[in-house]
Amino acid sequence: MIYDVIIIGGSYAGMSAAFPLLRARRSVLIIDGGKRRNRFASHSHGFLTQDGVAPDVIAAQAGVQLSAYPTLTWIEGNAASAKKGDEGFAVALEDGREMAGRRLILAHGVTDTLPEIAGLAERWGQSVFHCPYCHGYELDQGKIGVIGVAPMSMHQALMLPDWGQTTFLPNGSFEPDADQLSQLEARGTTLETVTIAEITGRADVRLSDGRILSFDGLFVASIVAPSSPIAGQLGCAIEELPNGRQIVTDEMQQTSVPHVFACGDAARAAGSVPLAVGDGTMAGAACHRSLMFG
Ligand code: FAD
Ligand code: MG
Repeated sequence: MIYDVIIIGGSYAGMSAAFPLLRARRSVLIIDGGKRRNRFASHSHGFLTQDGVAPDVIAAQAGVQLSAYPTLTWIEGNAASAKKGDEGFAVALEDGREMAGRRLILAHGVTDTLPEIAGLAERWGQSVFHCPYCHGYELDQGKIGVIGVAPMSMHQALMLPDWGQTTFLPNGSFEPDADQLSQLEARGTTLETVTIAEITGRADVRLSDGRILSFDGLFVASIVAPSSPIAGQLGCAIEELPNGRQIVTDEMQQTSVPHVFACGDAARAAGSVPLAVGDGTMAGAACHRSLMFG
């Protein structure tokens, strides 16, 4: 059996990509490892009709609606590799099975790497965040710490004052120059240059000089990388950005390799659930177009 389309990753982007294809009665195989990027957060914000709903509830509802379409096949598990085949692509699963598809949609998202600070990773999605639009409002204009990882962290340090009284802790990652200092001052951000020993409590920062700064929430930029090596294996162009790597696509979500599409966080710099849903819809429709017209 050869599927019209194999979608790698069945979260917000992958499930949205499936919709136009299933509604055109095309055969679609979704392979999904079930590890959505926002699984660490209790609530998802900013997606129409689903504001404040748990991330897995949104995904589960979508899964129920998709499963009503008879041309969908869903495999729980991970794709290990993919290569160009005679009629399309051959995708090998981690369990050894091999699947064939005429087209491929990469919707496997990204993996976040956080700086190695004791107590940080276990608070990710609960009191440590990266996206102020997703989790800033709930801090109720309280005290916010921004942990620096590189000069790009200036961006968060200058944004967060809209969500509360902000302290920027570069944590030795770089030293703000005179121009950056005046930008921080103009936004009302306080600078704390002593390095961080650990995060304790809800969002308390113990500094290496022993002081403890208490915050309502912390923000930090993660470094992202595609969650699967498959785009690289197929020769898809991958772009280096200040916060990590992403698959390059055009406005139709087509990668640099014909008949391979990519959508969601894997193929855009600052992702979100609604953006993943939009990109997924475009990828599914563009993929259908290529099945019809080459
Ligand atoms: P993901 O949701 O990450 O899904 C990728 C899927 O692909 C997973 O199911 C994974 O298991 C699967 N996969 C990976 N590799 C393979 C493989 N080799 N084979 C098969 N399957 C594979 N956005 C918002 O809009 N609102 C929020 O409130 C919000 N809060 C967030 C909180 C946190 C802590 C984080 C980190 C992110 C948050 N985001 C939020 C961003 C949001 O999570 C992402 O933008 C969104 O999940 C991207 O969707 P996606 O479908 O591209 O990827
Ligand atoms: Mg793009």
